[in-house]
Amino acid sequence: MFSFDKRVEELSLKALETAKKEFETIDEITEYNQKKMLRAFIDNHVSESMFTESTGYGYNDRGREVIDLVFSQAVGAEDAIVRHNFTCGTHTLTVALFGVLRPGDTMLSVTGRPYDTIQPVIGISKDGGDMGSLKDYGVKYDEVSLTADGRVDYEAIEKRLAQGDVKMVYIQRSRGYSLRPSLSVAEIKKIVDITKKTSSAMVMVDNCYGEFVEKLEPTDVGADLMAGSLIKNPGGGIAKTGGYIAGKKEYVEKCAYRLTTPGLGREVGATLGHSRELFMGIFSAPHVVGEALKTAAFTSALFTLMGFDPTPEVGESRHDIIQAVRLRNSENLIAFCQGIQKGSPVDSFVTPEPWEMPGYDSEVIMAAGAFTLGSSIELSADAPLREPFAVWLQGGLNFHSAKVAVMYAAENVMKLLDKEGK
Ligand SMILES: *Cc1c(COP(=O)(O)O)cnc(C)c1O
Repeated sequence: MFSFDKRVEELSLKALETAKKEFETIDEITEYNQKKMLRAFIDNHVSESMFTESTGYGYNDRGREVIDLVFSQAVGAEDAIVRHNFTCGTHTLTVALFGVLRPGDTMLSVTGRPYDTIQPVIGISKDGGDMGSLKDYGVKYDEVSLTADGRVDYEAIEKRLAQGDVKMVYIQRSRGYSLRPSLSVAEIKKIVDITKKTSSAMVMVDNCYGEFVEKLEPTDVGADLMAGSLIKNPGGGIAKTGGYIAGKKEYVEKCAYRLTTPGLGREVGATLGHSRELFMGIFSAPHVVGEALKTAAFTSALFTLMGFDPTPEVGESRHDIIQAVRLRNSENLIAFCQGIQKGSPVDSFVTPEPWEMPGYDSEVIMAAGAFTLGSSIELSADAPLREPFAVWLQGGLNFHSAKVAVMYAAENVMKLLDKEGK
């Protein structure tokens, strides 16, 4: 059905061998998380009648109420809101930030500069004007940088918190599009413990790409609030849109008042027939995240064998689904992304090209052949064509299919290596 250069076939077999131990770890975590999710479905008596749509105000929508209970149980939180109404991860995080912060409060990011799209929300991006950012509403912002090797600077955090003015400690778990390591839940716990010991601040986590990668979530270890996108890990590749916020009851309530209105909060919001997909999505999420992690581990192993420099390396513990590979030059990045596209179930016949994406200071190439536009729990890859010439790969609804795309990527890059060799 698919034929590859013999060397790619052989290296792939070898890569599976190298990644074997990591696959076992992934399977073990996946089984644990999947059982945790099934337990939550059973305990909360999820029933077919909850999948019917509500319209208009959406009062007393049982499906909407129960999915909140199921999800909060699965992530060890007091409460949660899981809604199709969140338009993306940035919107969900924005609702959470505006939900709990008030004029005069200080938000302290302790993992350096937050993800690009969060910067205009805080009011620290270069361009902007009055868009109604946190800054426009009198919320102050400060940050503690990561250390030179991308690690959390616990001492600096403790010192900053001792000043006594911080209302919220903000953590970004995933590496985003940098090469720093992602944060483990154990590291997040350490920040939570330092925060609670030193101050009265609350802790909020941008949990994007982190859900169900480990056995525990930030809310299991004391984070007060976390949020993420349903077209990444927790939507299981089934949710068509949406987001979630989970955490302490008092904070989640406030976020619900921000999502709709003060007073109405979570009592309104027609589900319009989305409930079945949201339930099915969160149900499948632990398994699908396992498939994405296997895709990442396989990619890491294969490109190591080809002489490249991936991060995380094979066997390194993973805290998000992202796999970066440094590919040394632009040609390799383009070849890699075109290979991924060629092995995608949707739009396999188109060839991605680099383009000047607004907001970037170099050309960017992206591969995505997904059922849901922009979904990054489905296999996708992006690479800005500049130092350190790294591609960021994430997702894979099932490993068997994603493996084909990764092998096409390897074959494309190998062709270039052959040329170089001549
Ligand atoms: C994806 C992501 C977001 C939100 O991005 P959207 O594209 O709006 O869903 C925020 N933070 C991190 C770290 C992310 O990976």
